[in-house]
Amino acid sequence: MRKPIIVGNWKMNKTCAETIEFIDAIENVVSENDAATYGVGAPFTALKDACAHAKNLIVAAENCHYKDNGAYTGEVSVPMLQELGVTHVIIGHSERRQMFNENDEELNLKAKRLFDAGMTPIFCIGETEAQYDAGETETVIRTQLANGLKDLCPKCVSKMVIAYEPIWAIGTGKSATKEIAQNCCHIVRDQIRVMYGDEAADAVRVQYGGSVKPENIKEYMACEDIDGALIGGASLKVDSFTAIIDATK
Ligand code: PGA
Repeated sequence: MRKPIIVGNWKMNKTCAETIEFIDAIENVVSENDAATYGVGAPFTALKDACAHAKNLIVAAENCHYKDNGAYTGEVSVPMLQELGVTHVIIGHSERRQMFNENDEELNLKAKRLFDAGMTPIFCIGETEAQYDAGETETVIRTQLANGLKDLCPKCVSKMVIAYEPIWAIGTGKSATKEIAQNCCHIVRDQIRVMYGDEAADAVRVQYGGSVKPENIKEYMACEDIDGALIGGASLKVDSFTAIIDATK
């Protein structure tokens, strides 16, 4: 039985004060008995406060470096995040791939470093609109996973989270149909089966992301291969994130 995981991705939003207010409010609506895991991905500056206030919510960073220290101005390492109590790290979000030139080889190193630390990567993949229109979605998904998740231990892979996020659906309001989302998440799971076998494939949690909101979360969660969601815009307001949580209880 896979426990669903629903994570807000705040991106470059929320100060420390806003983070504390949000986490305290959401902690009132989640409990340790929930059938799903809920959490937020917060900016580096807010992580310490987020961890201090989160009890049942998990706290994710939105990036990390694969080296532990050194001359990497502006970067943050895995031990630095771990010290704060961060347990999950979103890596390979399409905004980082597109705006900060992250590639699968580098993401592979990040995933390895996170596993070494006993942390959980939320590994993002997904095709552009042009790739979707050209019928290349499946190839893109399989290639990103083959390169980004190569040479990992199957046990680690079974515990990780993969977020399938078609780039054309992110922040556009143009969410994928549940059929497209299910089909792509099934391809993700099948690629994990090819690379790491049945046990890892049946255990890995696959999220859908891209314009998820209170009105459509239920239909994604009802899909066989979708084990949760990565949510941008609708995770920023207490009201809408609460509505999403309520819809999945
Ligand atoms: P969105 O963002 O929910 O605003 O489309 C999703 C994401 O970027 O993870």
